[in-house]
Amino acid sequence: AGRGLVEQRHGVVGVVRTAMILGMWARMPPLLSSTSSAILSAWRLSALLLCPPVLSPSVQSLLRSVKMDATESFRKWKRGQKLGEGTFGEVYVATHEKTGEVAALKKIKLECEDEGVPGTTLREVSLLKELQHPNVVGLCDVQQDNHKLYLIFEFLDKDLKRHIDSVSGHLSIEQVRSFSFQLVKGLSFCHSRGVMHRDLKPQNLLVTNQGRLKIADFGLARAFCPPIRPLTHEVVTLWYRPPEILLGSATYAPPVDMWAIGPIIVEMITKRPMFPADCEIDMLYKIFRILGTPTESNWPGVTNLKDWNPAFPMWPKISLRSIAPQLDEQGLDLIQQTLNYDPKTRISAKASMEHSFFSTVDKSAHNTL
Ligand code: AMP
Repeated sequence: AGRGLVEQRHGVVGVVRTAMILGMWARMPPLLSSTSSAILSAWRLSALLLCPPVLSPSVQSLLRSVKMDATESFRKWKRGQKLGEGTFGEVYVATHEKTGEVAALKKIKLECEDEGVPGTTLREVSLLKELQHPNVVGLCDVQQDNHKLYLIFEFLDKDLKRHIDSVSGHLSIEQVRSFSFQLVKGLSFCHSRGVMHRDLKPQNLLVTNQGRLKIADFGLARAFCPPIRPLTHEVVTLWYRPPEILLGSATYAPPVDMWAIGPIIVEMITKRPMFPADCEIDMLYKIFRILGTPTESNWPGVTNLKDWNPAFPMWPKISLRSIAPQLDEQGLDLIQQTLNYDPKTRISAKASMEHSFFSTVDKSAHNTL
């Protein structure tokens, strides 16, 4: 899938890169004398005048927004303490120089830093600015400096993994229910806009001390093609990855995100990962041992997937109750529906908002969260 996306990107990269060269020139004046700056402005103006016949309207509007970012927000965020390191780069606290507003600044690790930020990446990132929902971490700003890309996100207290670890005892069932509802609500919104996450896990669900949950890193997998390894030695986690991807399916569709919901709910309940595997085959076997080895009858087409092996051991399904005994029938049913092997029969984010597990959730209160 990654390769397909890269190829798709390369198709338009030429046009957008031309646009970006102009965009980058727009960023250079602080390094130049006033005379060179005047020459540059004249050059830039003539270049922009010459460009419209070549550039599509969307690229022109991208150029305008990039230019606005450069002039209006360039270097207005002051970087503070490091918060952590994720799949795409280091995360710092940042403070707005004028307003004192606190945000999370993500310094994106680009694969080819010497070549600058690919135009397609910037285009995808600027589209993410439009993805505004109470359960999605807002992207406030995008900055480019010295071929580096910085994303400025709204700040939240901690990630869900840290929250689960910090609670002594267990999370209350009401908190699990509320977090799960907010999670599927944010997911439903993004899916309805054609944006998938592809790497949902407790580390990129952020929570506030008031019980709000927001999904972080939406759309970044598509914009940046996640590396196999993040910055440190830590391997990208497989624990929330669905069986169709593990078995070599090349298509990323919304059910990929829905698979992760079940293991995340189980982890909130039990405080332990549901499938703590250390490699892909271990991950598949951990799934098969609980849900039973899939067959053509519960997953038509599974035996044709690229990495299907007829020699896989045949395990029977075990009861989900033994995995999360604290959860009621409705909760177990929702988990089962997110873990349906066949992606076509897996529950959607929209449908899961109406699931009986959430019948006691005050949905109007969640609208204002
Ligand atoms: P990520 O790259 O999103 O996995 O981020 C790495 C870590 O930085 C997360 O596990 C969080 O602890 C922290 N972090 C990321 N984004 C934010 C944010 N918007 N607000 C507060 N902390 C964040």
